[in-house]
Amino acid sequence: MDTELMPIAGAVDPKVTPRKPATPRADGKRSLLGLSRDEVRAALIEVGIPEKQARMRMQQVWHWIYHRGALEIGDFANISKDTRDLLDRHFVVGRPEVVTAQVSTDGTRKWLLRFEDGEEAECVFIPDADRGTLCVSSQVGCTLNCRFCFTGTMKLVRNLTPAEIVGQVMLARDALGEWPSAEEGRMLTNIVMMGMGEPLYNFDNVRDALAIVMDGEGLGLSKRRITLSTSGVVPMMARAGDEIGVNLAVSLHAVTKEIRDEIVPINKKYGIEELLAACAAYPGASNARRITFEYVMLKDKNDRDEDAYELVRLIRKYKLPAKVNLIPFNPWPGSIYETSTGERVNAFSNIIFEAGISAPIRRPRGRDIMAACGQLKSSSEKITRAELDRRATEKEASWVD
Ligand code: SAH
Ligand code: SF4
Repeated sequence: MDTELMPIAGAVDPKVTPRKPATPRADGKRSLLGLSRDEVRAALIEVGIPEKQARMRMQQVWHWIYHRGALEIGDFANISKDTRDLLDRHFVVGRPEVVTAQVSTDGTRKWLLRFEDGEEAECVFIPDADRGTLCVSSQVGCTLNCRFCFTGTMKLVRNLTPAEIVGQVMLARDALGEWPSAEEGRMLTNIVMMGMGEPLYNFDNVRDALAIVMDGEGLGLSKRRITLSTSGVVPMMARAGDEIGVNLAVSLHAVTKEIRDEIVPINKKYGIEELLAACAAYPGASNARRITFEYVMLKDKNDRDEDAYELVRLIRKYKLPAKVNLIPFNPWPGSIYETSTGERVNAFSNIIFEAGISAPIRRPRGRDIMAACGQLKSSSEKITRAELDRRATEKEASWVD
């Protein structure tokens, strides 16, 4: 097959499933969290802050929110009482509400968060010896319906706003006691957009939220410490590289059309070859910044030696600066797959390593609190297989441009 970028059928901008907008707060106040500097400045002028002061006030607001972790406008100590009162009448800092906080025996923490309109999403902190990684959600539910993923069984309820995405990071910092924001010795050092949802189907909000996370005056995390994972929304990948610029992870999971169509159904729209061509063209990918291919190990489904050899062939064919992350399947109530045996996973990993490509096996974290990859789900509904099939059909229909 030709290695050039193939034309993509249909319109270039994927149509997102119709969704409910985030509802405004009952008290009519606006959250300052998640607003860019320009948006804060404009919002301040709108409520009567003199234009001449607006830039300075904006910097103060950002400092109190992202450097000091202030929860209330009343805490903005170097702003006069009159100005604070004015701000207080129109704004809140804004944090998602924590419904439950759980800690795994391995130290992983999971928070179930509730937003203004009552919708919920989960967010997970994974501590390691040399780093601490926060796994952030981008949607309530997911636009897609990968068959091995618990989130994929949920309806897509809505996209998260920039405030709700940044809010997850702020909340983790609150819980870890990481204010004021210090450069050295932080526990939360890395962010992965690998929670609930497909981030590239919520492109603008994810981009705007990560801009604040990466801003030196915002949360100050380097783009090298942030990874965005997509299941393969090909038309948005170049923009992700250009406009967000973080590390890319791709949920490949299978090397044949037949199997990938089955387990990652968006493959029926954007196939493997298109996806790999988009990876080869990903802005910023290099040997120093490799693309991670995630590969969930499903017993007797995608875990044969031939699959590993084919994976190596494909990575070479597209000359991809790649590493492979092998993820033992994490089961959930009602899942139809089994985890590959440890022996199988090792053999698969060795084949890839022997070809000179790094292929570590991801150690499952937080399984006891359902916090591991693919186990996140914010509603406890019990659904029948027929309802699952109905949802899958409905979701797939919504991807048609
Ligand atoms: N929606 C994005 C990011 C979230 S999921 C994406 O799909 O890439 C993070 C990773 O966990 C993805 O590679 C996903 O395919 C994988 N995953 C989903 N369900 C899983 C499960 N049950 N066991 C192991 N990994 C799973
Ligand atoms: Fe959505 Fe990712 Fe789960 Fe697929 S694996 S259903 S894209 S969250």
